[in-house]
Amino acid sequence: GDYSQKIDYVFKVVLIGDSAVGKTQLLARFARNEFSIDSKATIGVEFQTKTLIIDQKTVKAQIWDTAGQERYRAVTSAYYRGAVGAMLVYDMTKRQSFDHMARWLEELRGHADKNIVIMLIGNKCDLGSLRAVPTEDAQEFAQRENLFFMETSALESTNVETAFLTILTEIYRLI
Ligand code: GDP
Ligand code: MG
Repeated sequence: GDYSQKIDYVFKVVLIGDSAVGKTQLLARFARNEFSIDSKATIGVEFQTKTLIIDQKTVKAQIWDTAGQERYRAVTSAYYRGAVGAMLVYDMTKRQSFDHMARWLEELRGHADKNIVIMLIGNKCDLGSLRAVPTEDAQEFAQRENLFFMETSALESTNVETAFLTILTEIYRLI
């Protein structure tokens, strides 16, 4: 690509959800097309960027990942500051991680701009035989809360690009 190209927009998108649902691997897949089985909590890395073209505009997606603070429910307000998008991630094989979505959503809505675009993500769809959250349950929650919804696999790269493109395009549409 042309690295001297000017950036028209920077969109900050935050990843939230319980520990081990796959937030870091979703970001690694989207930003670098990588995946690692023994993913460690990323220490010190605040965000990764990926530049893409939407409607002939150069958009820099700045995707923020928690550095493991979600384990202690200690995600700070600085994390949410300036975010125009959020991905609420659960592990579809862990019912509890889905049941916690309401709490994460409440925390998000308490910190973020009211126009933030939110997408619910059911990750690990490659583990279909271990599914603990029916698609319909998630769809119903998403509809009620006015969220976009997608099931993904960071491992198999299913819907990852589509999920990020969908949220970024919607953010662009709203500005
Ligand atoms: P985080 O704590 O939410 O950032 O979760 P991680 O991205 O660190 O992932 C936690 C564990 O789940 C790691 O062992 C990953 O390899 C694994 N994992 C992440 N995404 C997927 C996925 O789509 N499918 C499967 N099978 N495992 C995944
Ligand atoms: Mg992580």
